[in-house]
Amino acid sequence: MPTDTKNSSQPAGRPSSELNVDLIKADFPILEEKVNGHRLVYLDSAASSQKPQEVVHALSQYYRHMHSNIHRGLHTLAERATVAYEKSRQHVADFIGGVEPEEVIFNSGTTEAINLVARTWGEANINEGDEIVVTEMEHHANFVPWFMLAQRKKAVIRKLPITVCGHLDLSEIDSIIGPRTKLVAITHMSNVLGTINPIQEIAALAKKHGALVLGDGAQAAPHLPINVRDLGVDFYAFSAHKMMGPTGLGLLYGRRELLEAMPPYKFGGEMISKVSFDEVTFAELPHKFEAGTPNIADVVTFDAALTYLERVGMNNARQHEIDLTGYTIEKLNSLNGLEIQGPQEVEQRGGAISFTDPTIHPHDISTFLDSRGIAIRAGHHCAQPLMRAMGKVATARASLYIYNDRSDVDALVEALVEMRKYFGL
Ligand code: PLP
Repeated sequence: MPTDTKNSSQPAGRPSSELNVDLIKADFPILEEKVNGHRLVYLDSAASSQKPQEVVHALSQYYRHMHSNIHRGLHTLAERATVAYEKSRQHVADFIGGVEPEEVIFNSGTTEAINLVARTWGEANINEGDEIVVTEMEHHANFVPWFMLAQRKKAVIRKLPITVCGHLDLSEIDSIIGPRTKLVAITHMSNVLGTINPIQEIAALAKKHGALVLGDGAQAAPHLPINVRDLGVDFYAFSAHKMMGPTGLGLLYGRRELLEAMPPYKFGGEMISKVSFDEVTFAELPHKFEAGTPNIADVVTFDAALTYLERVGMNNARQHEIDLTGYTIEKLNSLNGLEIQGPQEVEQRGGAISFTDPTIHPHDISTFLDSRGIAIRAGHHCAQPLMRAMGKVATARASLYIYNDRSDVDALVEALVEMRKYFGL
């Protein structure tokens, strides 16, 4: 591929067992921004991650040197774009444990990936009285599509509850997952509590009853090494924008035989084999599920995001997150009355850390922190059933990634102390 020498990006994370966060920070141009007169402290990566220079560069390279529509064209640019698009698919397949590229479907995000399964596999396989098991900690993206399907089909939603510590309560699991279960749809890592769920164990039980398992990997795929076969899931959905990649791009892994048996989701160009006024037949995988002109530029760019993450090393990223999450929890616990939601054990959780202050509303916390250049998230985090179970209307959430270090956490904690003084507490 031609390179743009004027704007070539620097290599990022180093292939070592320890992350050099100073070097990593330098890869992210946005971290040089001043926000409200302060250095930007970005602690909202669970909502969306920032992008390293080489990902920004890859997007511009695509438009400068290879943009064209894919798969149909016979000219050089069409060939270049097609090769880059399919190379990215292969990269995703390798990244999630070496599945077949045909088992990777590009779409617009975790939300669309889950809707795809609900609208295709779900419509074809869920019938009256069937049970769909979800957890109490699901993001709406992995709850509402199943709720709507259950309503259409007169099926039943069963829930795996949470404990007060923010783990899944598996004590009654044998009476929740059983012969009527058709699907278990479970988040791999909670976007509110940070909890990493024992998806492998749950999948093994689901399999015993002939049920399928869908993993919502929106929070796990950016932070953990993923092998979908080892996890035992049949479907796994995640979003590029939370893992250094562009917005508007989602990934669905599905086992080949399931995807082959499923009807298409959208109809139009690209997804057909033959069309006449009498008959329409559909293309092979993965094209059957990618109707119309796809999000070519972002798919091609995502290749660079995965390369970046691999160079850092997902095990290194995970170790860094464990260390920094431990540090953050310890610092937040030192603030009197501040309550952390979710597990305290760092090995069992990721770096999305929700907390509440006894007297200051999460929205006020977020607004105050923003005035100090610190970006966090406040609200129900698209998990209203979980909020209800926790007896909260909202939480503040700081979420960590590989470009965060202790100085970011210290800035957060200092600002929280200042905030309490500001509110006269
Ligand atoms: N699932 C979880 C656990 C999430 O955290 C999110 C987004 O925050 C989603 C699903 C939805 O992802 P997207 O908005 O990229 O489709």
